[in-house]
Amino acid sequence: MSHALTQEIDRIRRTCILCGRCTAACPSCAVDGIDPMEIMAGGEEGLDQCIVCGTCSQICRRSDPFTVIRMLIAIERGITVSDAYRETGFARAPAADRMIEPEWTGQDACLMSGCTVRAQAPYLEHAGAAAMDAIGVHPCPLPDEGCCLHPVQFIGMTEHERRNAKKEMCEGADDREIVCICPGCSDELSAVDEGAVDFIQFLDARIGDLPRFNRTIAVAMEPGCSAAPRAKRMRAVLEAMNCRVVNREWGCCGKSAPVAGELMAMRERECEGAEVIVVDCPMCHVKYDAYDGGIPVVHISELVAAAAGRTETLGFHRIPVPDLTGRSRFIE
Ligand code: SF4
Ligand code: SF4
Repeated sequence: MSHALTQEIDRIRRTCILCGRCTAACPSCAVDGIDPMEIMAGGEEGLDQCIVCGTCSQICRRSDPFTVIRMLIAIERGITVSDAYRETGFARAPAADRMIEPEWTGQDACLMSGCTVRAQAPYLEHAGAAAMDAIGVHPCPLPDEGCCLHPVQFIGMTEHERRNAKKEMCEGADDREIVCICPGCSDELSAVDEGAVDFIQFLDARIGDLPRFNRTIAVAMEPGCSAAPRAKRMRAVLEAMNCRVVNREWGCCGKSAPVAGELMAMRERECEGAEVIVVDCPMCHVKYDAYDGGIPVVHISELVAAAAGRTETLGFHRIPVPDLTGRSRFIE
């Protein structure tokens, strides 16, 4: 695999004009982490500081630094398709605890949880189903759900192989909408099936059906990397539910890179004044909930479920979430 990857890295690097746009936009570089232009110029320093946000390739008009970096990471760490994927169909083995069985109430649309939810916050599947049901869309699970193939362990697959595997998974939805709890999954699946959406898109399309809190809640919104382009729609959804957004800036949680501590401190500062942080990405959810002394966090599906009086999943959070149902702290 590594020879084919090396050739592809060389090919992509040759398309770079060393303009520096990626460097200027990279959140990790801003805190002395990785410099993507240096990588495109042939360097290999700081790969562990990449927070895999993809901003560099979103901003680049000529090349694809994100793919080069992911390939270099795979080679450097010897990452290949995991045993967990071969055994379970998920990049990481699903967790057996912190699970509440979702209530599948119909066949209107399919819910896709994704590897991060299943391995690190499996209770979010229950929240996702409850949120869909709360706005009158009766959910069923996506048949034969597996990994969306975004993780770096699949970088050795050809684009053709990846597309075929994703298409096969989407066909299980039988032309129904596929609602993804993880925006990374929706980015991957929407490339092969226009019926795949993330939670923000799903809720925004039904904004008139959203449940409302009976008093205004001060929230901070953190859409995360994949859903950052949908920040405006996320704000509209939150405001429709009677939430007031207190922050003007947002960004990446940093995942597990060494720069994550600094980035999370920035995120918590920009969220000051919020009673709860609302995220769209399950990885952000896990990171915010693990931040010592941090502001409570909910996934946007949990917020919708809570507005409809469904708070079962909040008991699994490490940082206690205040009463969102409108009976105590949030009641006027
Ligand atoms: S990767 Fe793209 S944005 Fe970055 S230096 Fe090269 S051409 Fe410019
Ligand atoms: S993926 Fe994000 S952190 Fe990594 S080099 Fe690109 S912009 Fe920087």
